[in-house]
Amino acid sequence: MHTATPIHFSPAAPNTENQQSDRNPIVGGRVELQLLTTLKCNLKCSYCSLGVGEVLGSQVHVEYDVDQLSTFIDTHLQGKVVYVTFYGGEPTLNKPLMLEVMRRFPRFRFQLQTNATLISKLPDETLGRLSNVLASIDGGEATTDAYRGRGIYRQVMKNLREVRAKVGGSITARVTWGNPDTTFEELDQLVGEDTPFDYLYWQFVADQQYGGDSLPKRQAVLVQMIDKFFSRTDVLYPLIPLMGMVRNKLFPTRAQELYAGRAQCRVSTHLLNVMPNGEIYPCPDLLYAPDMKMGDIKGNWLKPSPLQLSSEMPCERCEAYSWCRGNCMKNLYNGYVKQDVQYRSNVVEPICELIRFMGREIDQRKPQAWFEQATLPVRKQIMDCEVYEYVEIMP
Ligand code: SF4
Ligand code: SF4
Repeated sequence: MHTATPIHFSPAAPNTENQQSDRNPIVGGRVELQLLTTLKCNLKCSYCSLGVGEVLGSQVHVEYDVDQLSTFIDTHLQGKVVYVTFYGGEPTLNKPLMLEVMRRFPRFRFQLQTNATLISKLPDETLGRLSNVLASIDGGEATTDAYRGRGIYRQVMKNLREVRAKVGGSITARVTWGNPDTTFEELDQLVGEDTPFDYLYWQFVADQQYGGDSLPKRQAVLVQMIDKFFSRTDVLYPLIPLMGMVRNKLFPTRAQELYAGRAQCRVSTHLLNVMPNGEIYPCPDLLYAPDMKMGDIKGNWLKPSPLQLSSEMPCERCEAYSWCRGNCMKNLYNGYVKQDVQYRSNVVEPICELIRFMGREIDQRKPQAWFEQATLPVRKQIMDCEVYEYVEIMP
């Protein structure tokens, strides 16, 4: 999520409560409520996807109250394991909502997706309840500051070091890999010694950054990552996309159990993005598309996600499908259903090529034999890492 190119959708008829399907709109036993606490942000990252469709800054105040949220949860999410991701804009700009939701629903798990510039202002009680912090960073200092503004890298690292001991769960570096010149070393250092991060998750930027020699450059970095991943069986190299791909290749049933075999970013099964005005959408990058609306907190209705794999998409004929599961449904939808041919050839297809490349490189290193040699803690992380629940897994 997070990065996009403008796509224009034709408005669908407004959804109403009586359009709600009879079947349970949530597939499986878990649900992620991603609450966009505000669409305001204190940074101006050059690739921000909320800039598309003029979403960024469009809703500053939350228009539903926590009682309405509670009624919605009681009506539609009964019996599910619920976890909440605070998202934005920059979610920490609406601290009161975060605190209220955490106090009102103490049984839930909580994650914060943040640019980490304000995280040290959160109360210790809040930090202690966070199962995971997804902190956005773009690589090393030069790359991060080029996208986010001068001094941001140092500020983020300082803040995260300051709060590290207070955060109850993990801290994951969330990288949008935009620049083709990003090096292995700058990504590697994010999970090196003396880092505040436990894991690295990256996503390939959904923007036109795949021309010229940018694919071979990215592939060279990927080879270094994959080599390092398989170089040890006693210590995990904590790169979530590699961990998830290896898991899916070795244990394909896990993807069936956890997402009914659908996209691992959960948009087709159990991810609800709640806008500040209470409208619900499956993908945080398609908040401006009326035909993607799937529910409403104030109206207390919910229907199944409209963002599903369809016959126009190439996945079922793809060598990667058994473990990729359709990577980014937004990209596939824009490229193949909305038939944005330029986006398809300049963004979607190059990313798919990178995914297939990673799959082949992993296979060459004999993941089964590696797993058989791996220590139990490494195997446990590959199988059950909690962070899989909080990120898209696929890059
Ligand atoms: S479809 Fe999934 S991976 Fe793609 S932008 Fe949306 S949430 Fe992210
Ligand atoms: S690599 Fe692309 S085409 Fe292949 S399964 Fe993944 S998303 Fe679908």
